[in-house]
Amino acid sequence: MIDYCIIGSGISGSTIANLLRKKSTVHVFDKAKGVGGRSSFKRYKNNIGFDHGLQYLSPKTIEFKKFTKKLIKQKVLKKWNGEHKFLNNNVKQDKKHIKLIGVKGNNEISKHFLTKINYTLNSELIGIRRDKGIWNLTFKDKKIQSKNLILTAPFLQSKKLSQKFVKTQLFKNKVKMNSNLTVLLMTNRTNNKASSFFTNDETLGWVSYENSKRRFKYNKDLWVLQSTFKYGDKHTDNYRNKRKYYINILINKFKKLTDIKIKKIYFTHIHGWKYSSNSKAINVKSYWDKKCGLGICADWFGGPRLENGWLSANDLYDKIIKR
Ligand SMILES: Cc1cc2nc3c(=O)[nH]c(=O)nc-3n(C[C@H](O)[C@H](O)[C@H](O)COP(=O)(O)OP(=O)(O)OC[C@H]3O[C@@H](n4cnc5c(N)ncnc54)[C@H](O)[C@@H]3O)c2cc1C
Repeated sequence: MIDYCIIGSGISGSTIANLLRKKSTVHVFDKAKGVGGRSSFKRYKNNIGFDHGLQYLSPKTIEFKKFTKKLIKQKVLKKWNGEHKFLNNNVKQDKKHIKLIGVKGNNEISKHFLTKINYTLNSELIGIRRDKGIWNLTFKDKKIQSKNLILTAPFLQSKKLSQKFVKTQLFKNKVKMNSNLTVLLMTNRTNNKASSFFTNDETLGWVSYENSKRRFKYNKDLWVLQSTFKYGDKHTDNYRNKRKYYINILINKFKKLTDIKIKKIYFTHIHGWKYSSNSKAINVKSYWDKKCGLGICADWFGGPRLENGWLSANDLYDKIIKR
């Protein structure tokens, strides 16, 4: 029987798995078909693809700055250079914030951590039970047992799975995770020179020019268009029935706001991130119940960014080793 069953292969799950593996047996399960969670990279072919969720890292804390520096040295992360434009105040540039991206894709940190760890994809945990000091875990396609269980899913998903076992006020917190509609777009080569665009539009919040990340050379342009949270919150529940409609809304906004001339569209894809991120931190960084061996860590303990998932996983690890 494994010591730790970890649910989720995003930054939180892969970080805690990597910390625990040195002294214990761990196994990571994820319901998705790739690793990285909300930092997923959608491959088009070979190394050509789109950062589908997380766009870049901009480290804030000293610990995370140190960590990312190490990953730059190890060629897991790199700087995303170029012109990052604001389309609101007479096209000003964002020179203030350092922008880090995965060398091959933004799921790179998770991939790096999971190289020495057993993990299984396409495995959704649907029920948890505790019998005689052991976790009995029901997945859609199997059952497994584990001494300890660690969840890293978004707030509502973690709550649904584990609220019966959580003894603190954790799930009494109000954590509102905003939604986001993301369009992946491939067009003819354009005359664009910018790496990204922030806007103050009500519908389209951000555009990334994937070619500027210098991961590939290609004779077509790849773009990621992300809605504002306000627009995402209103439309993410309905987008599946009207994919073309929402794709066109975001593309038309993109053309109008940037004035980039698009002659031909080769590929589009739309995804609704129901639980994209939450803006406010709660008063704890992670949850650990040593008696029953239940841990929870995730970005939503600390706020809207990947860094908070990493901090939460490190906090949980500190609690576990103080057992
Ligand atoms: C569109 C978008 C843009 C973003 N942009 C940025 C940005 O620019 N900068 C930034 O710092 N952050 C950004 N974020 C936030 C960032 O992606 C997250 O903070 C971070 O990826 C969260 O990592 P996590 O490991 O805590 O959770 P997740 O990455 O969500 O990982 C949880 C994993 O658990 C799996 N899972 C859930 N339930 C189950 C289950 N029942 N069984 C099995 N597996 C399950 C999921 O499939 C998922 O892989 C963005 C997020 C989105 C969606």
